[in-house]
Amino acid sequence: HGSPTSPAALVLGGSRGIGAAIATRLARDGLGVALTYVSRPDQAEAVAAAIRAGGGHAMTIRADSADAGAIEGAVDATVAGIGPLQVAVVNAGIYHAAPLQDVRLETLDRMLAVNVRGVFVAVQAASRRLRDGGRIITIGSNVAVRGGGSGSSVYAMTKAAVATLVRELAPELAPRGITINNIQPGPVETDITAGRLEMLAARSPLQRVGRPDEVAALAAYLASDDAAYMTGVSLTLDGGFSI
Ligand code: NDP
Repeated sequence: HGSPTSPAALVLGGSRGIGAAIATRLARDGLGVALTYVSRPDQAEAVAAAIRAGGGHAMTIRADSADAGAIEGAVDATVAGIGPLQVAVVNAGIYHAAPLQDVRLETLDRMLAVNVRGVFVAVQAASRRLRDGGRIITIGSNVAVRGGGSGSSVYAMTKAAVATLVRELAPELAPRGITINNIQPGPVETDITAGRLEMLAARSPLQRVGRPDEVAALAAYLASDDAAYMTGVSLTLDGGFSI
């Protein structure tokens, strides 16, 4: 599987954490995978190399999600380098927490640029090239559902925007059989949660944080034929954290 011109999945922010797990899982499920990164070419290449070692097809693309032209270039490069676009996973996101008076404008602007503007541009660019019946999957957060704790205001605002965007776009994409859904993970063990795992696990009904592959399993379902009737929804996957 995964030879050139196989159906393609583009994973924005696929070099580490949840995105890397999703890229790996979609490759295992038979899609050729293009994954973007911004700061860690080494990590991106390691993910791609592992996919190739497993017999899959993978390419890496440097594309800052704050740069609309770069996102459009990544979509085009995916189709040219792998094949017709079947799945777009909009995962790239950044997290900063600070109390209201400590939020700097440049931090606010960067989070809006990557977590909101970047998501919109990615959905717009991907939907132009997606096959009919294709899939768009965004990664929001459970903080869009219930308070994320002090300092989470900007991050939660950006993730609420993603959930609303997905709901509003579903009817627009539906005539082409394209579905769009949003996964809202709770705390997952990645670089974002490093140093906070014990505190987060203690607050969770399941007494642990999630694993990236558990988020990837839901993404794999949403990408599959089985999920063809599901669109416009946000699915919270958080071990009961936000109950
Ligand atoms: P990581 O910090 O572990 O990984 C982030 C990934 O996104 C990396 O591949 C990184 O690339 C990429 N990325 C970051 N900024 C950009 C950018 N400007 N352009 C392109 N790629 C970028 O994060 P997680 O895996 O934890 O998070 C992934 C998503 O899941 C995010 O949207 C996050 O908000 C969300 N999420 C995470 C939760 C968690 O507990 N971990 C909980 C809920 C939601 P590079 O390696 O090149 O820097």
